[in-house]
Amino acid sequence: MDFGILVEYYDKVESTRKRLEIIGYLTELFKKLKENPKEADDLEKIVYLTQGTIYPTIMEQPKLNLAEKSLMDFISSYYAVNVSKVENILKKTGDLGDTGQKLAEKKSGKKSQITSFMGMQEETVSVADIYNKLEEISKIQGSGSLDKKESKIHWLLARCKPLMVKYLMRIITSTMRLGVSDPTIMDALAIAYLGDKDHRTDVERAYNVHPDLGLIARKVYDKGLKGLEEVKIQIGTPIRMMLASRLNYNQILPKLGGEKFLSEYKLDGERLQVHKDGSNVTLFSRRLTNITEQYPDVREVIKKSIKAEKIIIEGEAVAMDPFYEEMQPFQVLITRKRKYDIEEMVEKVPVCLFVFDILYIERDGKEETVMDYPLLERRGIIKDVLDESEKIKLTKGKFIESTDELVEFFKEARAANAEGIMNKSIDPEESVYKAGNRGFLWVKLKSLEAGKMTDTIDVVPIGALWGKGKRANQYGTLLVAVYNEENGKFELLTRVASGFSDDDLTRFLNLLEPFKTKSLPNSVICSEKPDVWFKPGLVIEISGDELTISPKADAGKNYNNQVREKGYSVRFPVFQRIRNDKEIFDITTVDEIVELYELQG
Ligand code: ATP
Repeated sequence: MDFGILVEYYDKVESTRKRLEIIGYLTELFKKLKENPKEADDLEKIVYLTQGTIYPTIMEQPKLNLAEKSLMDFISSYYAVNVSKVENILKKTGDLGDTGQKLAEKKSGKKSQITSFMGMQEETVSVADIYNKLEEISKIQGSGSLDKKESKIHWLLARCKPLMVKYLMRIITSTMRLGVSDPTIMDALAIAYLGDKDHRTDVERAYNVHPDLGLIARKVYDKGLKGLEEVKIQIGTPIRMMLASRLNYNQILPKLGGEKFLSEYKLDGERLQVHKDGSNVTLFSRRLTNITEQYPDVREVIKKSIKAEKIIIEGEAVAMDPFYEEMQPFQVLITRKRKYDIEEMVEKVPVCLFVFDILYIERDGKEETVMDYPLLERRGIIKDVLDESEKIKLTKGKFIESTDELVEFFKEARAANAEGIMNKSIDPEESVYKAGNRGFLWVKLKSLEAGKMTDTIDVVPIGALWGKGKRANQYGTLLVAVYNEENGKFELLTRVASGFSDDDLTRFLNLLEPFKTKSLPNSVICSEKPDVWFKPGLVIEISGDELTISPKADAGKNYNNQVREKGYSVRFPVFQRIRNDKEIFDITTVDEIVELYELQG
């Protein structure tokens, strides 16, 4: 496919705020490939580029991530303008894509005069050409790498018309952010290749066990539903994790069937999905990134303590005291998060892996996908294969039959330094491991107080106001948004101005710099006017007193087919921490906010 055609689709997608229209444009794009099978060779590439990347997000691949500064140098040398001119345009547009486009327009104005004068045809460039060159750039390393990158970027710029330059720049700086989430792409794939949006669930099922949308697109393109059925669990490929909902303590027993359920400690550590294949152990984080290097001790203990050739289990790595007697809070665990001296930190901060689930096992040559077994059966298998020690244990659980018992167990868990309890259905039919799903089979409880906001929420900064006095030249207030899955937009929830330490304020300046943009980003709905706009990029966690309804907030104004004058907001929001482990599409959704608001009663 011609790259020019692809970017025209991107431009249409960017021009609308309506999710249905975005799905419509993507569907048209995917159908075009069906009508023109030769172009379909580019399908995977098109999917990754639409996601704003060149590799599946789960793959450990070199990142393109060229620094904005270097790219500005390359553009200035290619278009033969001073860097200061590029900077000036960037100041006005706030976006390197738009900046590149403007420079290209000036140049192409001159070029097209010459080509039409000489009767020459304009060249075209294919998606594959662009993609392959980007892939080459991502692999360049070592001395002289900047020069090599520059020459390849020049190669690309020489072949790109202004609109192509715009998206090319955004892909290179990892700031594509078309507002196209993975579910939107899946909707379009379902309509284009399976004829119906209802088939999105089939696409999603495959995606949940193999979160590589390029591969999924290929399967469904080639073989339809049959192709999707072929997508199976694979050791070494992370599975999208099952998530929990929240309820007030007195709503949990009724929601989990009213008779009996399993309550486990909700441990305050880091979730790990462990893939063991013989002596090969890989650890994936909540974001499905490979973090094996950070836990050499967990890797060793898995090798020793699991009696199965192959297995996929999940658990929480929790920091312990030197005698492995007491659990330590998450703040202690994160001191292990560093690139160097890991071995030293392993000594200083020992961890225990508390296993709570199993998804797949191969023993005595027989393989079983156990995700679909009920919870108690899964726990039984863990007990069979796990040699418990101080470094690895089955997560403590208790059967609960009344709300009084639940309250008692909650207190016990808190006394043991757990964050609360995780309540799980034991229904013999229903209580399967639902990959990628946040339902009510698991219900978390972090506080017994009802009528208040008992849980933190994850948001993205979309704007900031400059601080005053001591906070001059820093962001004194952040405007933060939650994600509305219905329209694919990030909607203003509240202003946050407290909870920041001096260090946080400095970090914000740096961390938010790449996301600065001149005007309201297309993927954002915000009726306030901040001093600085940001594209959604950084995820932070906030707490608050309670959820409220406010005319100043935009979150949920347009929700569930209703348009309201007021949106959802938070009273007394306080910054808690930066959530590097989350992506923008993992943040709290409007759906969850509505659910939390209703919980308050
Ligand atoms: P989420 O992961 O649900 O998006 P979050 O990262 O903010 O949200 P919480 O809402 O506090 O985390 O709780 C969910 C997390 O709790 C799980 O992802 C897991 O890491 C952790 N957890 C601790 N104990 C358990 C347990 N016994 N069973 C399942 N998860 C547990």
